[in-house]
Amino acid sequence: MNSLSIVVPIYNEVENIPRLYAALAPVLKEMNREYEVLLVDDGSTDGSKAELDKLAQLDERIKVVEFRNNFGQTAAMAAGLNHASGDILITMDGDLQNDPTDIPMMVAKIEEGYDLVHGWRKNRQDTYINRKLPSKLANWLISKTTGFPVNDIGCTLKAIRREVAQELELFGDMHRFIPILAYWRGAKCAEVVTKHHPRRYGETKYGISRTFKVLLDLITVKYMIQYLVSPMRLFGSMGLLSGGLAALAGAATVAMKVISGVDMTGNPLLLLTVFSVMVGIQFFVLGMIGELGTRIYFEVRRTQPYAIRHLKNFDIQQKFPRA
Ligand code: UDP
Ligand code: MG
Repeated sequence: MNSLSIVVPIYNEVENIPRLYAALAPVLKEMNREYEVLLVDDGSTDGSKAELDKLAQLDERIKVVEFRNNFGQTAAMAAGLNHASGDILITMDGDLQNDPTDIPMMVAKIEEGYDLVHGWRKNRQDTYINRKLPSKLANWLISKTTGFPVNDIGCTLKAIRREVAQELELFGDMHRFIPILAYWRGAKCAEVVTKHHPRRYGETKYGISRTFKVLLDLITVKYMIQYLVSPMRLFGSMGLLSGGLAALAGAATVAMKVISGVDMTGNPLLLLTVFSVMVGIQFFVLGMIGELGTRIYFEVRRTQPYAIRHLKNFDIQQKFPRA
């Protein structure tokens, strides 16, 4: 039977940690297979660390990865996935907005033959204007541009086969693109409807600005990761285009002045020439900088997006004590 690793990023969730454990433990015991829970403390400053230590003391199946700083949810997820040793990895939030009782169904779906199963919060319990509406738009746009039909890319409740999860390279805000990255690498993916609850304790770590970051990520993911082409090259081409336009408009301006003797003072064509030259140069230089940035990025990418201070309960001999 496949063993399970539950991966949960934790950033200032002091009230939620014991509740999460209380909700997870019975579900996992009920499933009657080997499991571990990896709680990744993403530089919490609110006493979460003490709560995590307490749990790790109490239960050796609780493994804690403690970061030296707040590196963000994607880094926390990446660390959890990298350190997991189960056959099936389940990712979820630490605030109990995801429901652990969905886990058995998701694992069953994987065992039907899928590599990745991602949740769809059909009854999402978040505010409409700043959360649900922007994410609806983002999901639509993401489906259109990536060719991966998805209703709820932002749902953190997922089940992934370990091999598939561990070959992903996650950075920035990219945990949201896990299903798409996996799909591009040939993973068989399925979407299942999952429960969702309002956050009862603590606060959300995100606001509206996240949507823009997600869209920016989409551009970089699509071009940088899939085609290994820098989105910055767009600037280069725009610069060339603008330069071409400048040459045409410039030639026309000179011709009008010299051949037809037209007074060019304040002529829109002259303005267009000047404008296109400026934009052309600017964008071309931006494109060069972008290109340089991309190359440097690929050069230094081996660095992990996180730094670990402590690992707890990872040293025990028996990797998977029975439930
Ligand atoms: N989180 C994290 N690092 C961060 C921000 C968030 O590990 O820098 C964790 C957080 O503790 C929670 C999960 O990521 O377990 C989702 O965060 P949140 O509930 O704030 O997001 P939302 O549900 O509002 O989308
Ligand atoms: Mg939440």
